Amino acid sequence: VLILAFESSCDETSVAVVKNGKEVLANIIATQIKSHQRFGGVVPEVASRHHVEQIVHCSQLAMEQAGVSYQDLSAVAVTYGPGLVGSLLVGLMAAKTISWAHSLPLIGVNHLAGHIYAANLVATIEYPAMALVVSGGHTELVHLTAPGHFEILGDTRDDAVGEAYDKVGRMLGVNYPAGKTIDQWAHEGQDNYQFPRAMLEEDNLDFSFSGIKSAVINMLHHAEQVGDAVNKKDVAASFQADVLDILVTKTKRALKKYPTQQLIVAGGVAANSGLRERLQQELGDRVTLIFPPLRLCGDNAAMIGAFAYIKYQQHDFADLTLNADPSLDFEYAE
Ligand code: ATP
Ligand code: MG
Ligand code: FE
Repeated sequence: VLILAFESSCDETSVAVVKNGKEVLANIIATQIKSHQRFGGVVPEVASRHHVEQIVHCSQLAMEQAGVSYQDLSAVAVTYGPGLVGSLLVGLMAAKTISWAHSLPLIGVNHLAGHIYAANLVATIEYPAMALVVSGGHTELVHLTAPGHFEILGDTRDDAVGEAYDKVGRMLGVNYPAGKTIDQWAHEGQDNYQFPRAMLEEDNLDFSFSGIKSAVINMLHHAEQVGDAVNKKDVAASFQADVLDILVTKTKRALKKYPTQQLIVAGGVAANSGLRERLQQELGDRVTLIFPPLRLCGDNAAMIGAFAYIKYQQHDFADLTLNADPSLDFEYAE
């Protein structure tokens, strides 16, 4: 089964060809980060224009690299949410056009399901499995009960973890997206500052990151006002230590309540080296940890093709009325 997959939910235009939900024949990713950096975040209108400019080229390149033609394809898949509506529409239009022109079944994919199923490209998911989804817009603990069945156990009450990294990074003068630099600084600095670790004491699986983010920002403002010197690397180390405490504690709690063999870590923040180390240390002997490689953690279409294969097997197809859903939830959430 050969699937041509499109991803354009945010600031990466990506097109992939994936075989049997496992083998990545091509995964072209055109990032727009440079265009958004001077604004300190993604500007939706700028993002959709870039997608329009890139998508045809990316899809030609993907087909070429995979060495396939339209007759070889089994289906076309596309992210239809969650994400920026104008950006999603560009991928949808491209996928629907190819689906119609070449009479190929169309598969609509939830972006977060894609992030989770990136795991299937490097391992084989065994059910039930636990997933910690940590990205620019989401922080969730998800229990996978069967292929394509997602039970949301915990969610963020406010900011997503990647968003907190980007906002703290901006205050420290780091270019968007700041996660990677903060991660590097965290390794070089000392955990000298105390910030609140929200909701650790509460007996639930939800997250909150706005408190810690505000505490860091207030501390930096105060230091600036009184002319105190701030060690940015120490701030990064302290912030990251607190964030990891929250993520690791809640994940452990989830696994205690819902024991699984595997823990999948998904989304852009899964690239975080501190998170990888701490989960390995604290859970490595209890569960099999699946960390997708860095190029499959950030937004990419290969992960969309990986999940589309599950829907293909379940004959779960969309038609040409498929529309963008900016705040799409997990469809099979129990
Ligand atoms: P969503 O998937 O929720 O729709 P998104 O697609 O914008 O949001 P991703 O592309 O999955 O998010 O992830 C981007 C985020 O990952 C950014 O916030 C970025 O700062 C963060 N990030 C990337 N590398 C690291 C790292 N090493 N440590 C921490 N955060 C990181
Ligand atoms: Mg992105
Ligand atoms: Fe994403």
